[in-house]
Amino acid sequence: MQSLLLALDFGGTKHAAAVIGRGERTWRAYKRVSSIAHPNAESDMQIMYGLAYELLAGEQPAAIGVSFGGPVDAAAGTVILSHHVTGWENIPLVQVLEQEFHAPAAVDNDANVAAWGEYRSGAGQGADSMLYITVSTGVGGGWILKGKIWQGADGMAGEIGHTVVDPNGPLCLCGKRGCVERLASGPYIARRAQEWLEAQPERGKILRGMVQGNLDAVTAQVTSAAAAQGDELAWDALYVAAWGLGVGIGNAINLINPSRVILGGGVTKSGERFWQVLRETARATALPQMRVDIVAAALGDDAPLWGAAALAEQIADLEADKHR
Ligand SMILES: [Zn+2]
Repeated sequence: MQSLLLALDFGGTKHAAAVIGRGERTWRAYKRVSSIAHPNAESDMQIMYGLAYELLAGEQPAAIGVSFGGPVDAAAGTVILSHHVTGWENIPLVQVLEQEFHAPAAVDNDANVAAWGEYRSGAGQGADSMLYITVSTGVGGGWILKGKIWQGADGMAGEIGHTVVDPNGPLCLCGKRGCVERLASGPYIARRAQEWLEAQPERGKILRGMVQGNLDAVTAQVTSAAAAQGDELAWDALYVAAWGLGVGIGNAINLINPSRVILGGGVTKSGERFWQVLRETARATALPQMRVDIVAAALGDDAPLWGAAALAEQIADLEADKHR
C-alpha cells in the first residue's frame, strides 16, 4: 500500500506543496515558492508539478489533497475560477491531477481546507462544530459541522466577509455597504487610516512618523504597530475592524451555535486590545446562553496545506476501504 500523501496549496501569489506519511504529524518534505509575474493557470500548474515531483523524489502518492484560492465545486472536483489568476475557469483539477499522478485527489477552496486543517491538526481539534475565519487581504471563512466541511448549496458557505454589519457603512467591493470585509480586511484598514490622516491633520502623529509622512505607505500592519505605540487614530481605525468582525462573528454564532470560532490571518496579529474588542463585541451580539469560545488559529499560513494533507488522508482511507 502506498503510504505517502501529497498536499498542494494553490495561493494567489504563493504556492506550497508538502509530502507526509499517513498517520504522521510532521512533513517529510515541504516547499513554498512565490508565483511568477503575470501568472496564468498553466504557469501555476507547471510550478506545482515541479514542486510535487521534487518533493515526491520518485515515490508515488497514495492520494492528493488540494487547497485552491478561489471558488471550487468540491463535489465535481472542479475549479470555478480564480479571482487573481487567469485561465482557471472550469478547470477539472481533480481529474487533471489524478491523470498526472495516478492517485485519487480531492480539492476544496482555501478557506474550507484551512478550516479542515485547523480542525484536524490545529486549534479546532476536539470541537464538534467550528467556524474558521481568516482576516488578511480579504475575509474568508469555512464551517466544520459535526466533523465535516459544510460547503453549502453552491460551495459558498462561510462567506462571513460579505455579511453586512453596518447597512449604512462604506461601499464594499461586492457592491453592498458595511460588509465585515469592508470594515476588517487589511487593505480596508489601511484605507480608513489613510482617509482619516488626510481629513484630520492634527491626529495620528505616531502613524505619520512611522511612514515618514507618506500616506501611501500606510498598511494595516503599520497601523497596528502605531496603535500598539499609543496612536489613537491608528487604534480607532483598528477598532472599527475589531468591532465589525465581532458583530459578524456574534451573528454567525447566533445562527449556528458553534462550539469554537478560530481566527487566523495577518490582521488578527493586531494585539490583545484588538482581540478584547472583538471578543466583547461578539459576546454582546450573540445571545447570552451561547458559549463563545473564540481563539487564535494555530497553523498560520500552513493551515491550507495541513487541511490538504487531511483531505488526502481521507480519500486514501476511502480507497483502502474499497479494496478491502
Ligand atoms: Zn462585501
